[in-house]
Amino acid sequence: MPFSKLGLSSPLVQAITELGYKTPTPIQEQAIPAILSGNDLIATAQTGTGKTAAFVLPLLERFSNAETLRGKRIRALILVPTRELAVQVEASVAQYAKHTPLTSMAAYGGVDTAPQKERLIEGVDILVATPGRLLDLAHQRALHFDELQVMVLDEADRMVDMGFVDDIHKIIVRLPENRQNLLFTATMTNDVRAIAHAFSDSKMTDLA
Ligand code: AMP
Repeated sequence: MPFSKLGLSSPLVQAITELGYKTPTPIQEQAIPAILSGNDLIATAQTGTGKTAAFVLPLLERFSNAETLRGKRIRALILVPTRELAVQVEASVAQYAKHTPLTSMAAYGGVDTAPQKERLIEGVDILVATPGRLLDLAHQRALHFDELQVMVLDEADRMVDMGFVDDIHKIIVRLPENRQNLLFTATMTNDVRAIAHAFSDSKMTDLA
């Protein structure tokens, strides 16, 4: 099945064609239409399955169709457990978004907050962040969540293992209630399901 049949429009299809992707992976075939329909989603997917594109492509599709492109405040937050993953996921977002006007950045700890704050003031559509730095930036009032539409938790099991559950709960309470929630995990544990239930509603598509 071609990517265009999954509901992705030409700027995205062009970007993935340039990257050499020919057909969607199984997780992409399942997740892309589900996410485009606006449902919450919980999915088990290992690294290497194409899971990053599975959530990034439909996000970009939804935003590039949005009538109001105000562009100063973040619309999607992708939470990841490590700095390395933040850099890697943001690089994928930038590649997939290259033929759209959408912007992205990675925010992680261990570096000065000032350049990250400056970028946020300029305006970022999609923020990929580690939990600690995200809370720092929020406490410093560098982040406004009032236009946030989608929250993604990537590698949720690693987040639990690394002790981020409290931070995740602190982040969730700051976000608008009316949003789409997407959760990806390599393994499904009771702790991961508890997080999913804490932030999700009844329209959840379960690919776990
Ligand atoms: P991920 O599971 O998100 O870490 O992706 C693993 C690798 O697969 C990355 O290098 C992607 O660029 C690549 N990839 C993702 N989707 C596809 C696809 N449909 N066809 C070919 N390669 C892909």
